[in-house]
Amino acid sequence: MNHKSAAFVTAIAMMFNLLSCQKEKDPVISIIPQPLNVTQTTGIFKLTPNVKIVVKDEPGPSDQAAFLKSRIQSATGFDPQIVKKSSGKRISLQIESGLEGTLGTEGYSLSVSKREVKILAATPAGVFYGIQTLLQLLPPDIFANKVIEGIKWNIPLVQITDKPRFVWRGFLLDVSRHFFPASYMYDVLDYMAMHKLNRFQMHLTDDQGWRVEIKKYPKLTEVGAWRVNREDQHWNSREVQKPGEKATYGGFYTQDDIRKFVAYAAQRNIVIIPEIEMPAHTTAALASYPEYSCTGSPLTVLPGGIWPCNNIYCAGKEETFTFLQDVLTEVIALFPSKYIHIGGDEADKSQWTKCPLCQKRIKAEGLKNEKELQSYFIRRIEKFLNSQGRQLIGWDEILEGGLAPNAAVMSWRGTQGGIDAAKAGHPVVMTPTSHCYFDYYQGNPDSEPLAIGGYLPLEKVYSFDPVPQGLSADEAKMILGAQANLWTEYVADTSHANYMTFPRLTALSEVCWTSPGQKNYDDFSLRLTRQLQRFDAMEIKYSKASEQKIILK
Ligand SMILES: [Zn+2]
Repeated sequence: MNHKSAAFVTAIAMMFNLLSCQKEKDPVISIIPQPLNVTQTTGIFKLTPNVKIVVKDEPGPSDQAAFLKSRIQSATGFDPQIVKKSSGKRISLQIESGLEGTLGTEGYSLSVSKREVKILAATPAGVFYGIQTLLQLLPPDIFANKVIEGIKWNIPLVQITDKPRFVWRGFLLDVSRHFFPASYMYDVLDYMAMHKLNRFQMHLTDDQGWRVEIKKYPKLTEVGAWRVNREDQHWNSREVQKPGEKATYGGFYTQDDIRKFVAYAAQRNIVIIPEIEMPAHTTAALASYPEYSCTGSPLTVLPGGIWPCNNIYCAGKEETFTFLQDVLTEVIALFPSKYIHIGGDEADKSQWTKCPLCQKRIKAEGLKNEKELQSYFIRRIEKFLNSQGRQLIGWDEILEGGLAPNAAVMSWRGTQGGIDAAKAGHPVVMTPTSHCYFDYYQGNPDSEPLAIGGYLPLEKVYSFDPVPQGLSADEAKMILGAQANLWTEYVADTSHANYMTFPRLTALSEVCWTSPGQKNYDDFSLRLTRQLQRFDAMEIKYSKASEQKIILK
């Protein structure tokens, strides 16, 4: 069945759902992100208390089996046993490495007959995504965190084969501008997993707070994690800390917290990418250790957007690089991610023009100007990361003054930076403000909570294609995928964060996973209705702005 007719059939089926009073009909299949191939046949598999989860091979996908068992237990109250074989009603999870050629490292096949649900994949990640799809074949209440009575846990008979379009399916949460409790990180990882997203970037440092414990530099969190509380004032009209005033607002994650996040993420096929900003967005770090700025003057952590903000690391002092390498050494030990994000954006270089040490460095290294000094800075950090077996990724400003030889680029100021980097043979993650900035309004500003500005409705997120036109096939291969970013200047709590994120992240999941020929906004909108029921079961507060018919210029 081609995609348009599939959408049409789904539409008709959902209308029948609403209008008819059939006794027991086959459930409508409504999966997000849309899989590659779905073939439904007549009939159902009834999930009942006697179901077993079969894991054949040693060690087999045992984490995934435990995950499935726990979800079934939470919502149904059943207690499915995990066994090595069973001829009764069963959900079989199986890894077959030979399937990698067809399913890749994250794909799966899922087949449902009356007695058996069978998930096959080449890897544990593929099995995990098969389980995510299986959960979406069940009624939305399967996502509830309490036992829901009176539900027929029926699964339609179906054959699905599926794999993602992109390897990087990302979400960034800015935990610096506002700090979010550790418990919320687990929620975010769960939300990402149900959308088959696999890269979580934590924006851990900025002018308004340093959020990760670094043992060698304790002041980064003793001082840098705290600011004065100006939450009752507009972000851009907050006064800096006054002399004698106590900084009491903020928080940070301990190294133990981080290790737990990383482990929880890994069980869900998610890599956490730490972002440690340099050379700018560093006021919190320099409030803790002013000796690494050009002037050495005392600073306080900024309670909001206070401009101009030109407190950046001194590129002339050797001590700056020692400090950053020490910090990165601890970061690398915490985060197994291949990529370490070093920011690199929006550096006001006015202090570098006045600093004798920075100017000396420019001369000594034969650099033309401050842009090339930034490039020197990034290259030096890249050399260190590479020596530790890691890769550098940064915002597209790292292209200015010459890109470091092995760097990957996150293209945020539109897609041109990404195009230039891809043409030069560098890996790229597309995250342009136009389609991926979830701090923008998603509906009419008159009826929405205060946001930073902009306008990014659901349909526009959905329309994004991470591969820009004009790239050759080889250049297009450099596009790793896409990422949504939730910056939190205007987002102070988890409920608001969820509101800004959903359902736009649902649209982004299809941008990242679903092949272009399978994408269709009308069909997505129908499937979204079911996804919102899942969010209701999970008690996620989401935006209904996409239901408003508004036109903004
Ligand atoms: Zn300097």
